[in-house]
Parts: sequence; structure tokens; C-alpha cells
Amino acid sequence: MTIATANRALAGVHVLVVEDDRSIGEQLVRGLSRAGCRVDLVGSAAAALAHFEAELILLDLGLPDGDGIELCQQLREVTSAPILVVTARDTEHERVTALDAGADDYLAKPFGFAELLARMRAALRRVRTEDTPTTIGHGPLTIDLAGQRVTVNGAEVTLTAKEFDILACLAAEPGRLVTREEVFDRAWDTHWYGPMKVLDVHIAALRRKLGDASLIETVYGRGFRLRQP
Ligand code: CA
Repeated sequence: MTIATANRALAGVHVLVVEDDRSIGEQLVRGLSRAGCRVDLVGSAAAALAHFEAELILLDLGLPDGDGIELCQQLREVTSAPILVVTARDTEHERVTALDAGADDYLAKPFGFAELLARMRAALRRVRTEDTPTTIGHGPLTIDLAGQRVTVNGAEVTLTAKEFDILACLAAEPGRLVTREEVFDRAWDTHWYGPMKVLDVHIAALRRKLGDASLIETVYGRGFRLRQP
């Protein structure tokens, strides 16, 4: 994965930077904006509590109007957004205290910007995985994404890995037309240069195994959609 691809994970993410040192704060805002984030910068604990709706919070512990650890606890009570503590205090005790106060990660100053971005991506990945449903129910279908199992009216159907990936891709948004290209992107390695017709072979097998050919609708020349139950 290139850095550019990786940073797409941060595009549009709303970040709150809590930092009372103006020059550090502004440097962070510039860098994060370049990475595609929407950034709010505040310099006090009081202002941080008024801006907690961000998707990710970078928190400096040494603030003029209160202790960062206490602020971390207060923020944790009102938001589930990842909190990354960014601070010059770097003893094991400080790190443990911050993590116990609800911080998700801890980065000691001075730090490299690439590492900060990587830790932000990792924190967001964890949140997004927790938010993702592990089972999709759709009419007679139940798709267990974690266990990679599919049942139709309660009876388990044995699918190949490829058939499973295709079905999971269609079931992520039932009723929406999923283009052939999207299915390829999701179910195949992005460097697949073989014939696209192979997709029709898998779809045919999938329909047969699901026992109801009309569950997967073909939108001629475009792609497929999972019929609304
Ligand atoms: Ca400070």
C-alpha cells in the first residue's frame, strides 16, 4: 500500500486538535489538512469539551486550564471517538495513566508526522471494525461475515471463498446496483487481468446454491443487485 492510498483513510475525517502551543498546533493543522482531514484547533480543556463531536481527538496533556488526564476522562464520558495523547511527558507512569483515563494511544513529542498519521489510521480502523456488523440478514439469507458462513432459511449453504466474497459485496447494500467493476475490486485481487466473464460463472454457481435464482438480479451490462426481500 502506498502512502497516498493509506492517507485516503483519513480523507474527510473530522479531527479535533487540543494543543495550547500555537506553533505546534498550527503545524498539526497544516499537516492534517494536507492529509485531507477537517481540523478544529483549540487551546484549552474548556474549548475541547465544547468540540467533542470530532471523529478523532489529538490531545496534548499540558493545558493552561486543567489537567489533560482529567480532560481525557471527561471526553471519554461524552464521546467514543479515538483519543490519541500527544505529549512531551513520556514516562511509563504517564503513558499508563493516560491509557487508563481512556486514551486509545500515546505518542511522545517529538514525533514524526508519518507515524502520527499511521497511528490515526490504526485507531480509526479499530473503531470502524467495531462498528461494522458481523452478520447480515436479508430475506431468507443470513450471512455471517466473521465466520464466513451462509444460511438460507436456516440451512447452511457451502460456498467457495470467491462466491462468499461476491455475496458479501452484494449484501453490504441490498437493493443497490453493484457494478461488475466494484465486485471485482472487492472479491478479486486488484491486479486481476483475467476475463470478467469468470464473474458470471461464479454468479451462476451462487444462484444455484442459494436455491433461488431471482435473489441476485442481473442489471444487463452494468452489474448486479440483491433483490429486496
Ligand atoms: Ca501544552
